[in-house]
Amino acid sequence: MDDKTTNGNPLKLHKLFETLLQQYQHVIGDEQITSEKIVEYIVSYYEDIINCMPGNVYWFDKNGVTAGCNQNVLDMFGFKTLDEFKGLAFEDQRTKGGWTLEATEAFKNDTLEVIRTGKPKLNIEEPPIPHHDGRTIYFLSSRVPLFDHMRNVIGAVGISIDITELKNTQAELKKAKEQAEAASQAKSEFVANMSHDVKTPLAGIIGIAELLSHRLKDENHELAQILLMSGQQLLNFFDNCLEVFKLENSDIALLTEHFNLKSVLDEIYELFQPAIKTKGLALNINYPDNMPAYLIGSRAGFYRILLNLIGNAVKFTHHGSVTISINYHEKPDTRDILVKLTVADTGIGIAEYKQHIIFERFTRLIPSYKGTYEGNGIGLYIVQRFVNAMQGEIYVKSEVGKGSEFIVICPFQVSTLSDHELEENSSHVLTYEENRIREIEQTIKEKPTKSPPKILLVEDNLIAQRMQSSLFLSMSCEIDVVDRGEKALEIFQPGKYDIIFMDVGLPGIQGDIVTKHIRIMEQGSQYHVPIIALTAHTSEDINKHCLTAGMEDVFGKPLSLEQAKKIINHYYFSTDNNNSNA
Ligand code: ADP
Repeated sequence: MDDKTTNGNPLKLHKLFETLLQQYQHVIGDEQITSEKIVEYIVSYYEDIINCMPGNVYWFDKNGVTAGCNQNVLDMFGFKTLDEFKGLAFEDQRTKGGWTLEATEAFKNDTLEVIRTGKPKLNIEEPPIPHHDGRTIYFLSSRVPLFDHMRNVIGAVGISIDITELKNTQAELKKAKEQAEAASQAKSEFVANMSHDVKTPLAGIIGIAELLSHRLKDENHELAQILLMSGQQLLNFFDNCLEVFKLENSDIALLTEHFNLKSVLDEIYELFQPAIKTKGLALNINYPDNMPAYLIGSRAGFYRILLNLIGNAVKFTHHGSVTISINYHEKPDTRDILVKLTVADTGIGIAEYKQHIIFERFTRLIPSYKGTYEGNGIGLYIVQRFVNAMQGEIYVKSEVGKGSEFIVICPFQVSTLSDHELEENSSHVLTYEENRIREIEQTIKEKPTKSPPKILLVEDNLIAQRMQSSLFLSMSCEIDVVDRGEKALEIFQPGKYDIIFMDVGLPGIQGDIVTKHIRIMEQGSQYHVPIIALTAHTSEDINKHCLTAGMEDVFGKPLSLEQAKKIINHYYFSTDNNNSNA
């Protein structure tokens, strides 16, 4: 055999020849070795290798006509011999294999592209292709160009791996995921509806109880107060359940900020002073003098943890004290700091064998029917979730009759911002509503000199209608009430009302759409009526949605008398023009 037939590499050929001789010694025996025989052996040697390969192997000439393949391909087409496969154009493969037009086109385009460009195409997911045995196969294919010794493209080789099982698993997983998402969506919708259905009448009860407690005297006043407190307790319990639902169905999103840890303690200290005094306890704070002034982390998370732990300590302690201690450890040469918070009390304590269950939701060691302690058994569950979200740890040490110690260790970072910047950053994180009320309070001017405002209340729930109307009437407002958005649009005229209170979830046209209509009706007039959304189901998304629709503000139901007064003061009495905040 001369050099030309081996692309000028005699050494390579010699080696191959040696290998083949060794491999086929037992077959060849003493036979005369001719070059034809060697070629025959080489061909059979490589055919064997190709046939052993998992998956389909096939190759084309430079026109994309089939030139050869392995046994798997023959099986797929149901061919007995290689000759049946050789010389097929793409269209022939389609008819003989029963391929779809889509599969044939994809196969053809990819192959011709490789031949045209001389560049490989790897990991192509082919459209499904039928197998002779009736199965439908999904292939992951790669095709590479074939070159001659002058680097001219003379065809292409393809390898296709059967990924049908993987595809089926993927499809099952996708289906399972979609089902889980649908179930979770249905659950969320159920909770949103239930929240609306429970909170709306509850808001009515609380609102009317509040009104009555202002109007009634003596014994009746007390009865109204009890009604109010009971309603508020129920609302509180319901809100807690909703919070557990939220925590179980989504991650806690904590804002990382620069904050002063001492200011959190001071705020909590102020908050608990009345309860501490009433119970005759002492509240001590041990705060290290050299503690870095400002930290980076979640102030809101730390506040929530502290609030719940101290709330419990005060609740379950009847004599002695509650002590909050802070310790810390700064990691040398870094800004990392570990903060240890200890809330210790001299209260009733927790038996050791019960200490592991108190972090589970709805766990109360002293059941509610005994009526000794208020609570819903979710405070520590919430604490645990916040501690986890802040990558911290919590544990408890306690002895019955002597008291309890809750210890939280959380990582933070030391802030390096300047004092001025930190002051701006360290304000208490307010909820949307707290924030709005605070801003509104700041705008309230002196005693109102205008006559009371004319209000349009759009509310479909009868109890909420009565309750909100009584609230506005008690402030001598003039009021029109409608139960549907369509009716609101019928009676609305620019300049007719000073404020509109709009339920978001109305039957028929929803509150946000009504608002958009009103804003269009006002277009070109000098009027812009403040529209306040009222909703039983507040969330950041709903707030954003209402504000984008053109409402001025969003408040959760029930609107208290205090809130209603502030809103009216802000949007009516404190503005210069009646019904013109534009
Ligand atoms: P709640 O206080 O609303 O009942 P928690 O989840 O905050 O719910 O607490 C769960 C239970 O753990 C409480 O009901 C109480 O039995 C027990 N517990 C929590 N903190 C203390 C404490 N400081 N002293 C004694 N018992 C406590």
